Amino acid sequence: MRAPRGAIMQVCWLVRKDKCCQRIKLPHLKTVVIGRGPETEITDKKCSRQQVQLKADCNKGYVKIKQMGVNPASVDLVDIGKDEEVKLKPGQVLHLVNKLYPYTIQFLEVTGVSGARAEGKTKANKRPYIDSGNSNMENMSEKSMKMEQPDLQDGSSSCKPNNTSSSSSSPHDSSSSHKEHLGHWSQGLKISMQDPKMQVYKDERVVVIKDKYPKARYHWLILPWDSISSLKSVTKEHLELLEHMHAVGEKLIQQCLDKDSLEFRLGYHAVPSMSQVHLHVISQDFDSPCLKNKKHWNSFTTEYFLNSQDVIEMVETKGKVLVKDGTSELLKLPLRCHVCKQHQSTIPQLKEHLKKHWPK
Ligand SMILES: [Zn+2]
Ligand SMILES: [Zn+2]
Repeated sequence: MRAPRGAIMQVCWLVRKDKCCQRIKLPHLKTVVIGRGPETEITDKKCSRQQVQLKADCNKGYVKIKQMGVNPASVDLVDIGKDEEVKLKPGQVLHLVNKLYPYTIQFLEVTGVSGARAEGKTKANKRPYIDSGNSNMENMSEKSMKMEQPDLQDGSSSCKPNNTSSSSSSPHDSSSSHKEHLGHWSQGLKISMQDPKMQVYKDERVVVIKDKYPKARYHWLILPWDSISSLKSVTKEHLELLEHMHAVGEKLIQQCLDKDSLEFRLGYHAVPSMSQVHLHVISQDFDSPCLKNKKHWNSFTTEYFLNSQDVIEMVETKGKVLVKDGTSELLKLPLRCHVCKQHQSTIPQLKEHLKKHWPK
C-alpha cells in the first residue's frame, strides 16, 4: 500500500464475526475471491472454493459482492443469487454460504508517514461528524473540491474593487468599516465557521471553510473550535491542535483534484487580528479576481506568511510565536513574482505574468 507522506488512507478488511480467524485484506478496487480454503478455514463442501468475489471501494465505503458459487451467499440474510452483485456496507453481514460463516467489513484509516504504517481506529469511530452528505472528506474530491474555483458569483459582490480599505498596514485590522481585509473577513470568520453552508469539513477540533475572498484557485481556512484570538495567544498547550490543523490541511491538498498540477502552502498571517486563529491552505497560482492589491499579494508571498511547519517548530522550541518587528512593512514591498522573483510593476501585469507559471 503506497501512501503519500502524511496522507490518511483507507484500507478495507473482511472480518469473521463468529470466530476468531485471520481477517482478509480487500485492497481498494482490487478483486479478491474467497471460499472454502485455508484463508477462511472453511471446510464445508457446500461452500465453493470460489464462493464470492469482493471488490472494495474505499472512497465510497462499500464492497461489491458477487456470488460465484452454486449455493447462496447472502447479505443481511437476503440471498444474493448466482452471478448477481450487491453492495456490502459497514454494519451489514455477509454469510458466505447457506446463512453460515458471517463476515463484516471494516474500513480502517492508515496514516502513511515515512513508510511507518500506523493503523487507526475504525473509520466509524473516527469519521468526522458532518451534516450534509457531500461535506465529508471522502466525498470532497468528487463533489465539492472540483467546484473550488474562485466563486465568481459570490465574488461579484465581494470582489469588486474595494476602495473602502484603509491604508492601515495591518490586513487584520478589525475596524468595522473594512468589509474585506486581506482576503478574509475578520469577525465574520466566527460567524462563517458556524455556518453549515460554509463548512467544507469539520471534526471535534477544527472546521474548514472556503475563504470567502479566495486569493487563488484553492483557498481554505482551517479554524479551531476553541476560541484563540490570535497567534499571540498560542502556547505549547496548542501544539497538538496546530499539528492537527496542519494534518487536516495536508489532507485537503491530497484530496484536491488539481494537486498534481498546482503547489500549495499552509501558513498563517504574521500580524494577528482580534479575530480567530486560522490556517490558510492556498494554492500558489494566485489566479483569482479577489487578489487585487499589493497588500494581498505580499501577505501571501513574503515572510508575512508564516509556514505552518515553522510556526509549529517555533512553538515547540520557544513556547510561543515570535513575529519580527517591522513585519507589517513587508506588505509595502514592491511586487515580485514568487516563483522567478521577477519584478512586476502592477497587479494586472503580475497576473499576466503568473499565467506563464500556472497555465489553466
Ligand atoms: Zn489570515
Ligand atoms: Zn515568475
